[in-house]
Amino acid sequence: MGTKGKEIVGENADEIVELLNKAYADEWLAYYQYWVGAKVAAGPMKEAVITELVEHAADELRHAEMLTTRIMQLGGTPVTKPEDWYKRTNCGYDAPDDPFVKVILEQNIKGEQCAIGVYQKLFEKTKDADPITHNLVLQILQDEVEHEEDLQSLLEDMELMAEKFR
Ligand code: FE
Ligand code: FE
Ligand code: MG
Repeated sequence: MGTKGKEIVGENADEIVELLNKAYADEWLAYYQYWVGAKVAAGPMKEAVITELVEHAADELRHAEMLTTRIMQLGGTPVTKPEDWYKRTNCGYDAPDDPFVKVILEQNIKGEQCAIGVYQKLFEKTKDADPITHNLVLQILQDEVEHEEDLQSLLEDMELMAEKFR
């Protein structure tokens, strides 16, 4: 990356790259969890759930893209092997082996809550050290907060419906 651009970050670059790469691994796993979840999901309100899962998958992939751009700018290399996603991830991967919509929603809500924690920490960490990453992390954090809300409100609707037809 540019010399002057790198000066801003100084000796923090390596540590920030490492944290960004961990988040990058999370994003790929989140992307796949949503993507394959949308394929297998079954049960009430399936259409609404699938629409949301597909949208979120696209957002997670976009987050991976945003992170890799910054990793490269800081002179780092994005994780090159899928097997390393598992080694570097903060939030892990919850396979949608039970296709019931409620279970899938709960798994993804857990994932979003983890992601919010990760980006909140990164936001704090970069506050003084790296304004560019700080800004990028804020954009992603806003999406993750919206994702959690979307999924929780679907789950609430589902519970209301179950209540009504009991
Ligand atoms: Fe994300
Ligand atoms: Fe998300
Ligand atoms: Mg959404």
